[in-house]
Amino acid sequence: MEDLNLFCYTNAMHKTRIYGLDSKDIDSILMNLGQKTDHTSLLMNLIYRQYNKKLENYTQVSPKVRDHLSQYFNFELPKIIKTQKASDGTVKFLVVFEDGKSVETVCLPFRNKHTLCVSSQVGCAMNCSFCHTATQGLKRNLTPEEIVCQYLVAQRYMKEVENNPLSITNMVFMGQGEPLHNFDNLKRAIDILTDPLGISLGRQNITVSTSGYLPGLKRFKELGVNFALSLHSTHSSVRNELIPINKAYPLDEIMQELDKLELGPRQSIVYEYLLIKDLNNTKKDVEGLFHLLGNRNAYINIIPFNEFPGSKYKRPSDVEIEEFKNQLVSHNLNVLVRKTKGDDILAACGQLKS
Ligand code: SAH
Repeated sequence: MEDLNLFCYTNAMHKTRIYGLDSKDIDSILMNLGQKTDHTSLLMNLIYRQYNKKLENYTQVSPKVRDHLSQYFNFELPKIIKTQKASDGTVKFLVVFEDGKSVETVCLPFRNKHTLCVSSQVGCAMNCSFCHTATQGLKRNLTPEEIVCQYLVAQRYMKEVENNPLSITNMVFMGQGEPLHNFDNLKRAIDILTDPLGISLGRQNITVSTSGYLPGLKRFKELGVNFALSLHSTHSSVRNELIPINKAYPLDEIMQELDKLELGPRQSIVYEYLLIKDLNNTKKDVEGLFHLLGNRNAYINIIPFNEFPGSKYKRPSDVEIEEFKNQLVSHNLNVLVRKTKGDDILAACGQLKS
């Protein structure tokens, strides 16, 4: 929000949502009101860590600041209009925004941490042939605050309704949308989510997954987070069918960009590999993966295809999945089969739809 002139928002009828601010913005609000910035952390705490966002309880903050904030900013969170809980504990939320558009957000509980799968757009423009979200087309980008608010509403729900004391510490941009197709808003949202005075997620705990949207990929290092590529096939004819933007941004151009990314000492690039029956699980596919990734710092994440009503592809059997994995392992590749979570409520990968 570097360029935002915070003092131009004079239309009190339409207050700015507060969840698009970071601590630097709060600093400048305080300074512009002639106040010292030592209440920035108090305000950041109120905005991002308290569920009861009652400004009037903040008596330490001067009335002038409280009046200003309540006059110009909206503290309301988007509403959760539907939740579904799967037998494995996965909770899927339907979150609705001011204009009535909604997205799905999924909280995935693991033994000692919660991971939130968030959406970056309403719908998606990438039109991948296997994806449930694609059937909607792109409706619009999410704003930074709408991305941040998915965290806030899910965190509040898990604590207050589920009584789960664990905080959400990890975030994956694997919900609806192509995050790199909404780059500026994604970047801004990540800056807010990682602000040490606010939600304070670690950049190392955030993963952005892309279908290979090259213009965004070229700017990826600005984000400082983990990278995942939806690979799904190393053969261009198959990848073209699955991920049509492969025709515009072919895999070899993507790999050239990925080779430029500077990875941390314990960091690898994750290659997601959707495994589809009779399509991309042959010996030729194993060889293609070995050829592409054998000499790269890579982790292959096999995602068995999740069927949804009307999907044209089929999920391979457990034996076929295991066999494919073992072949990759015997080529010394790092492989993990992603455990399907939440599939009894259509909350698994690629099953999300507004
Ligand atoms: N647009 C981004 C992020 C969203 S998809 C991307 O393409 O990476 C998150 C992951 O779910 C991707 O790897 C995607 O390929 C996978 N996915 C989509 N539909 C799926 C389905 N029906 N079954 C299993 N995984 C799916």
